[in-house]
Amino acid sequence: MTRHVKSMHSIDIDTVEMMLDIMKYSINRISNSNPDMGKPTKEEDLLKLVGETVTEEGIGGEKAFELFKNVLSKAAVPVDHPRHLAFVPAAPTKAAILFDLVTSASSIHGAYWMTGGGGIFCENRAMDWLVSLTGLPEKSFGVFTSGGTAANLSAIVAGREYWRSLDDTNKGLKTLLITSSGAHSSIKSMAKVIDADILLVDDENEDYLTGSALRKAIHNLSQFDRKRLFAVVATGGTTNAGIIDDLNGIAEVCEQEHLWYHVDAAYGGGALAAPSVRHLFNGIERADSVTIDPHKWMFSPYDCGAVIYKNMELAANAHSQKGAYLDIFKDEGAQGFNPADYQIQLTRRLRGLPLWFSLAMHGTKKYTEAIERGISLANFAAQQIQANDQLELIREPGLSCVLFKRKNWKAEDYTHWTYTNHQSNFALVTPTKWTIDGESQTCARFCFINPDTNENDIIEILDSMN
Ligand SMILES: *Cc1c(COP(=O)(O)O)cnc(C)c1O
Repeated sequence: MTRHVKSMHSIDIDTVEMMLDIMKYSINRISNSNPDMGKPTKEEDLLKLVGETVTEEGIGGEKAFELFKNVLSKAAVPVDHPRHLAFVPAAPTKAAILFDLVTSASSIHGAYWMTGGGGIFCENRAMDWLVSLTGLPEKSFGVFTSGGTAANLSAIVAGREYWRSLDDTNKGLKTLLITSSGAHSSIKSMAKVIDADILLVDDENEDYLTGSALRKAIHNLSQFDRKRLFAVVATGGTTNAGIIDDLNGIAEVCEQEHLWYHVDAAYGGGALAAPSVRHLFNGIERADSVTIDPHKWMFSPYDCGAVIYKNMELAANAHSQKGAYLDIFKDEGAQGFNPADYQIQLTRRLRGLPLWFSLAMHGTKKYTEAIERGISLANFAAQQIQANDQLELIREPGLSCVLFKRKNWKAEDYTHWTYTNHQSNFALVTPTKWTIDGESQTCARFCFINPDTNENDIIEILDSMN
């Protein structure tokens, strides 16, 4: 029997050409460490430029790819430009990007060891390293997720299910969790998904959550709220300012109060590999669960998050899916590790594979150096700001985040500055807000990830505020 001839899965001369075009583009793009800043464009304008692309007969690979290459890719803002210092930028290694292509090409279903074995093996070696950075006790382990949002949700569902299993009277209650106002927006959206209430707790004197503020807040809860409180989410590097909560102090309270302790280090987790700041994370090893996003500060391509648990069995109790057609996955021979059992997703890409390849190729020392580079750039920027009469450093850098003001600027001046720099293909630096003397004020913010950013980039960007 022959297979279909000329189906869209077969190889013909057009397909070969398309493959070569795509490989050529990919190699060029991966090699280009100074891409255009890119600009967002209205959808209707893009439609005018490219016309209908999905049609009954298809427009052909050559045409579709040309449209992507010449028009559509330019209407996006790449995250790896060395002067992209907005939000949390990214700088995936060339090895990791290429292995993302290999991950797709290999067509591996990563939910269960039965089908994903060799690939999951690689992910697990990368995970060994992540777990070792946290200092969590032996047997702690984790899985790669689509990102920090999915990791946070998976962790908290595990915590909630455990809490419910402890006491039948916990079962019907609407739950409550505590976090700080610096926590990431995904904590609120996670609480919405699980229908939990959130209590925001901040320290009166510090700009991070402390054990004593937490203890006081718990002490002040009504009996009903105390009963339904099941978890505390601390942040290991706030997204806005890189601030790390008092992880040891919070751990102590959680242990005494029997609360699930989650540390969200989606952005900051990379800095666990940086000796210069590692001490700030002391106490993370006492967490029940930890989130780290390798697609932020561990140079993986999108998307790749990770959730780590102290007790994997509790995660499996919450997440393992049962189904008649799934049982076979668990029964066949190899009896390996099944990532689907520990987070919310079933069918999954082997998201940790690009990280593994890049780690295997370069070694962990190179990661430490690249992450330390982001921290030294932040310190350099802070020095430049302090030495400049027009500028004001709001606080010492938090990990690789720097908040600063241009004297006498109003909110609209920051917006204008951002747009002007972006439109001239020079830099992408966006404003944020910070509370100064009880008042929320607009300020500028740098977040350094890309080790190819250099001192001169910083000097030129600061000069553009003159
Ligand atoms: C980015 C971030 C998240 C969300 O992660 P995604 O990968 O965007 O889903 C959660 N928490 C913190 C602290 C973050 O910085």
